[in-house]
Amino acid sequence: MQLIEKAPAKINLGLDTPYHHQDGAEEWNMVMTSVDLADYVEIQTLTKHKRIRVASDSGFLPNDQRNLAYQAAHLLQTKFNVGEGVNIRIKKNIPVAAGLGGGSSDAAAVLRGLNQLWQLGLTWQELAELGLQIDSDVPYCVYGRTAHVRGRGERITPLSKLPAAWVVLAKPKVSVSTPSILQQIRYDELAHPDIDGLLRAVRDQDIEEMCAVMGNVLEPLTAHRYPEITQLKQQLMRFGADAAQMSGTGPTVFGLCSKQSRAQRVFNGMKGFCREVYLVRPLP
Ligand code: ATP
Repeated sequence: MQLIEKAPAKINLGLDTPYHHQDGAEEWNMVMTSVDLADYVEIQTLTKHKRIRVASDSGFLPNDQRNLAYQAAHLLQTKFNVGEGVNIRIKKNIPVAAGLGGGSSDAAAVLRGLNQLWQLGLTWQELAELGLQIDSDVPYCVYGRTAHVRGRGERITPLSKLPAAWVVLAKPKVSVSTPSILQQIRYDELAHPDIDGLLRAVRDQDIEEMCAVMGNVLEPLTAHRYPEITQLKQQLMRFGADAAQMSGTGPTVFGLCSKQSRAQRVFNGMKGFCREVYLVRPLP
C-alpha cells in the first residue's frame, strides 16, 4: 500500500521563547503558518520485512537514521510493534537547514501517512505528542496551516486563516545549525516580540497590524553571525514588502505583502540579489 503526503514549508510570523525548562529545552510562544512550497513524501509499506528505507533527490540529506522521516517511521513501527517495513521517497523542494522546517515537515508527513496506512487510529494531538520526540517543530507540522504553538512545541492551537497575503522567501547561501543558535540564547538580553498582539491581529484579519507586530526573538543572534540576513531584509523592504523577518533560526528571510502586484515586484527585484528566491502564499 502506498500514498503521497504533501509536506509544506513553514514560516514563523512570530517567534518568542519566554524561558527555558530545567532540562534546558526552550519554552516556545510562536505563530506559524504553512506556505505552498512543499516536499512530496511517497510512503510505501512492505509486508515482506521490517526495513525502513529513505531516498531523496537531494544531495544534502542523510538517507539513514539521521533523516527525520526515517525517525518518524521508526518511532511508529517500534511504539506500535508493526511487523511491516516502509520505503520512503522524498521529493525535496524546501531548502535544507533554512529555517523553513523541511525536515520536521517530512517527519510529520510520515507520521500522518503511516497513521493511515497502518491504521493506527491516532488523533492529530497524539501524533503531535509523538512527533515532539523527533523535533520541536514536528507537532506543528502535523497540523500545519496557521497555529499558535506553545510548550516545547507540542501545544498547538489552530488559528483562523490569514488575511490575503503573499510571501517572498529569500534564502542566503549559508546553512544554519539550529542548536548552535539556541546555545547562544541569554534570556536576560532578549527583546521579546508582542505575540499576543500578533494573535489579535491574525484574529482580526488585520494585515497592517500583523506587519507592525511581527517579530522573531532569535533574529539578532543569527543576523549577528550572518550579516547577509539584515541586508536581505533591507532589500525586501526597499522593493516594497510590508514587513520582513527571519524565519525560525534562519537564515531564510521573508517579505510579507498584502498585494500580489507588490509581491511580484519584490520577487523580481530580489532575484538580482539572491539565488534562491520563492514567491509563495500561506496555505488557506
Ligand atoms: P529546524 O526545524 O531544526 O529549525 P530547519 O528548518 O532549519 O530545521 P531542516 O531542513 O529541517 O532545517 O534541516 C535541519 C537538519 O535536519 C539538517 O542538518 C538536515 O541534514 C537534517 N535532516 C534530517 N532529515 C531531513 C529531511 N527529511 N529534510 C531536511 N533536513 C533533514
